[in-house]
Amino acid sequence: MEIFRTVSSVPATAKRRVLVPTMGALHRGHGELIRIAREAAGSDGEVAVSIFVNPLQFAPGGDFEKYPRPETDDEEFCRSADVDLIFRPSPEEMYASDFSVSVEETSLSNTLCGKSRPGHFRGVCTVVAKLFHILTPDAAVFGEKDFQQLAIIRRMVRDVNFPIEIIGAPTVREADGLACSSRNQYLSQTERQQAPALRAALLEAQRLAAQGERAAPIILDAARKVIATAPLARIDYLELVNAETLQPIESVQPNSLVALAVFFGQTRLIDNIRLP
Ligand code: AMP
Repeated sequence: MEIFRTVSSVPATAKRRVLVPTMGALHRGHGELIRIAREAAGSDGEVAVSIFVNPLQFAPGGDFEKYPRPETDDEEFCRSADVDLIFRPSPEEMYASDFSVSVEETSLSNTLCGKSRPGHFRGVCTVVAKLFHILTPDAAVFGEKDFQQLAIIRRMVRDVNFPIEIIGAPTVREADGLACSSRNQYLSQTERQQAPALRAALLEAQRLAAQGERAAPIILDAARKVIATAPLARIDYLELVNAETLQPIESVQPNSLVALAVFFGQTRLIDNIRLP
């Protein structure tokens, strides 16, 4: 496994290269993305993991400074997951001090997380576009946990013609249902005990929809009640949306999704579920 820290040192390759973009603090969720990348690369191909805590996608006063950066653990994680190449640049390597060009998606970014985190997806699109240029992958793997991000990346690839296949990966969870996340380690013991209420709320929404309930207010109220069993949870958003447009809908249609973001203290967790 080779580690590259500068843009100019990244080698071109004739092999099929599959990229897994991450911010590090790698966990089983990332491990699954890497496994899928390996499968997609084939035995002759190459799996590249980028590890970059991207300042552009954090709000001022957000958790950019305190975001975990366990460099040695991440290296070990990648080595044992049979990764071929790590790209781990510094912020200075990625952004000139007077950088002035960014990439912005202007439709899907206006809902859900985009509403509560202005500028976040511009940061994401900009860094992912840069990583695509630097690493020239044939395919890239993104998690469905960040459903909106995945939709926006697919849109960016379509709209500016990146010749890159985007592969979605299912959400990996802890035994109690909480989606694995680098941010889970911010949770206090009590918050951690209450956090599975998010998954329970989404399952309740799915259960009602499976029983034939179509009305968004009824489904979302039931989910809200489950979240309320976690007294430390503060809902940022809880919405029923069309999974393609990400626009809120009043009743369940084919291709519907319930998405939520919930704060425990300063820690913001997201999750989603598709409805039958
Ligand atoms: P992050 O390091 O949090 O920016 O995530 C990097 C990639 O891993 C993104 O494509 C995420 O959607 C994906 N990811 C994060 N957590 C999970 C999870 N629990 N299951 C599947 N993919 C995940």
